[in-house]
Amino acid sequence: MSSASAPRQVAVFGATGSIGASALDVIARHPDRYQVTVLAAGRQVDALVALCATHRPAHAVIADASLYAALRDGLRGAGLATQAHAGAAALDQLAASDACDTLVAAIVGAAGLSSTLAAAAAGKRILLANKESLVLAGELLMRQAAAAGAEIIPIDSEHSAIFQCLRSRDASLDGAGVRRIILTASGGPFRGRSRAQLAQVTPAQAVAHPKWSMGPKISVDSATLMNKGLEVIEAHHLFNVPGERIDVLVHPQSLVHSLVEFVDGSTLAQMGLPDMRTTLAVGLGWPQRIESGVGGLDLLTQGRLDFEAPDTDAFPCLKLAWQAMAAGGTAPAILNAANEVAVSAFLQGRAAFLAIPALVANALSTLSTESADTLEGLLTADQRARQITQAAIDHA
Ligand code: NAD
Ligand code: MG
Repeated sequence: MSSASAPRQVAVFGATGSIGASALDVIARHPDRYQVTVLAAGRQVDALVALCATHRPAHAVIADASLYAALRDGLRGAGLATQAHAGAAALDQLAASDACDTLVAAIVGAAGLSSTLAAAAAGKRILLANKESLVLAGELLMRQAAAAGAEIIPIDSEHSAIFQCLRSRDASLDGAGVRRIILTASGGPFRGRSRAQLAQVTPAQAVAHPKWSMGPKISVDSATLMNKGLEVIEAHHLFNVPGERIDVLVHPQSLVHSLVEFVDGSTLAQMGLPDMRTTLAVGLGWPQRIESGVGGLDLLTQGRLDFEAPDTDAFPCLKLAWQAMAAGGTAPAILNAANEVAVSAFLQGRAAFLAIPALVANALSTLSTESADTLEGLLTADQRARQITQAAIDHA
């Protein structure tokens, strides 16, 4: 889209989060290209009202329906014309409506699935940060998007890297001509520790990521390496590449965001500073390149790039995700749901760090894998896994 045409109308779901902030930062640099029309958050009314005062959207949604009056009064009190909405159904309705042509899908967890599916069915451009929706219902979501002509642009840094490398080949995103996808992983805050050294780690240590500033859930996922496991499943769906052709390589500097090896022996990597505004600018501007506020990479001052194999004994979550992907059907939905409940308990001090993989393994072995042709089947598996995991935490 050239700057002369009408601005893209952008909905930012998860606006009060880390990805939401990066998206709004890039958007605000290009007022002629992008207009924020919908902002949505889970429960943070005051932060949402403050964002509305800055970005002046037509609509604001608070997902927790009990907070409707607080949002409406907050917007009114700030003298804003923004219309207040509340509840998950309002998220779905606005994602599919004429109020936006682009959705930044940055809600955390399975809670982001429904509105992402709604935007896909309505043929929107989706800047997809919410990886959990792909893990839970990847086939459905990709099918829905293809049928409606929705454009999914990955916002995960690794997948944005792969997306950019694949576009060097032809316009499609399928696996043709690709020998291997290599996802890089920072290794998280506990890289190099043994299993025994992980027994006592605290939530504060787990969320202190060495390279990326992110929300608490994905920060813990990075510390357990579950994040990389979710990303393997995410890559499989986004790029239609079987699991056997997806590798994981630990790269502590987080400057090489991922690589694609083609059948001709050529390997392409995408590099840059670890700042999500770059991937958001790729998604917003694609196929054009737009300013993101992120500086370039100075390899002379960076000095070196290191690579090592992931330690799946100390960090079994990565292995569990491979296994769930291989099992297919409802297994990834079970993995994802159990992980969400386990991470939440860990963050609240109700479960130990090493309980996270144990709880996920427990859910996967307790629930049998079924085929996953319908959304109802997947959501039932998600609910059962949550119940089983919650019960295991309560009785520990
Ligand atoms: P965050 O915790 O900072 O923000 C989460 C956002 O979701 C908040 O705005 C919150 O209000 C909203 N939210 C929570 N529950 C909700 C619900 N039930 N309904 C509606 N909204 C709800 O998280 P984040 O780090 O910005 O991550 C968001 C998503 O992006 C996650 O899926 C994460 O895996 C993915 N992601 C993040 C990064 C990153 O750098 N932060 C990188 C790659 C992918
Ligand atoms: Mg990532």
